[in-house]
Amino acid sequence: MALKKTFCQNHPDRPAIGVCVITGQPICEECSTRYEGVNYSREGLRILQARRAQQNKIHWWPDRIWLVLATLLSPLCVLLIYLGLLALIFELGLRS
Ligand SMILES: [Zn+2]
Repeated sequence: MALKKTFCQNHPDRPAIGVCVITGQPICEECSTRYEGVNYSREGLRILQARRAQQNKIHWWPDRIWLVLATLLSPLCVLLIYLGLLALIFELGLRS
């Protein structure tokens, strides 16, 4: 594979040192931010930040919702089990 010399998308006179993992655009030393071992352009970092924020929002809700539902519904479940057992005992008492 021939290595093609590429230039920064923001600075056409500077050689690119890598590509942004998000946008795929070639970026120079100045435009590159190394984060978690990979290169990001400024735009790439913004997109990453937005994605992470979105993920946090998605992950935050179900956890809390299940906790609230479990807290509200557990007494109801206990009541239903209690009534079921009462019905069972009552029916067994009638048969004998
Ligand atoms: Zn640049």
